[in-house]
Amino acid sequence: MAKNAKGPGGVEIKTLSPNMNIASAKQIWKGEPKCGKTSTAAALKTVSDQYGLDVKPFFLLFEPGSEGVSLDCTSEPCEVCGGTGKEGKKKCETCEGAGTVRLILTTRKEMREWFEWFVESDFDIAVIDTGDKFYQAIMDDVCVEMNIVSPYGANDNGISWSVIFDAMRELLGILEASGKGVILIHHVYKQEKRVKGGSTVTQLVFNVPGKAKVYLAGFADQVLHFDIVPDEATDGDTDKHVLIGEHRASIEAGDRWGMFPAELDLGDSAETAAEAILTCFGYLEE
Ligand SMILES: [Zn+2]
Repeated sequence: MAKNAKGPGGVEIKTLSPNMNIASAKQIWKGEPKCGKTSTAAALKTVSDQYGLDVKPFFLLFEPGSEGVSLDCTSEPCEVCGGTGKEGKKKCETCEGAGTVRLILTTRKEMREWFEWFVESDFDIAVIDTGDKFYQAIMDDVCVEMNIVSPYGANDNGISWSVIFDAMRELLGILEASGKGVILIHHVYKQEKRVKGGSTVTQLVFNVPGKAKVYLAGFADQVLHFDIVPDEATDGDTDKHVLIGEHRASIEAGDRWGMFPAELDLGDSAETAAEAILTCFGYLEE
């Protein structure tokens, strides 16, 4: 043991692990549409409640598509019923009596307000649904402000691209500085990659333009790929849902913390998937 193994006050100096839990991890979850990314993120709360864990995801919505899932998310008063939840004596059909409806974030001002609100809130994981549309919304908002149609071919020496990139970094920085967890849900894209010997393989990647992609890849502690392994014997009835945590020639993925296996069985529901993920983070035992 080293001589200075005791610090001031006699505290024993030990090598402490980083704070590796899901409520501090920066993750990218990607996969084909309908493979259960959003419902699995929502099920983190269900499973957390069931086992008395303290995992509270909050959804920052950037696109519709989560309507079938119950979640805590960005919302606004229902215009149809004026927030009362009622139309005459009947329940308001638009908000189903809740008085509020889902809010899709579109401007940087709105994003900043909600991001800052999240940081002060009791919620501990920000789910950005989706990262693709988050980037797109920033891009659109910057284009409106700069009075351009698109940064592509804007002929401005890349200024609009810089403004977009800086806005994305600033917004994510709000979440990052809080030390809370972040899950960016992403669509997948097929990208041709050249491999040794000159041949090419198709890799499933997440994608945002330019240096934002490099930035997000560096931001993420885990890039996890949701995959469905078809079961030919049963004609799709028992397709296996898995999470790929290792980088492959055909799949962009990775886990800097080394908590995920190469392939994690997610079971057959959003709840079993959330359980499997929480088990990797050490919240549950197998
Ligand atoms: Zn309503």
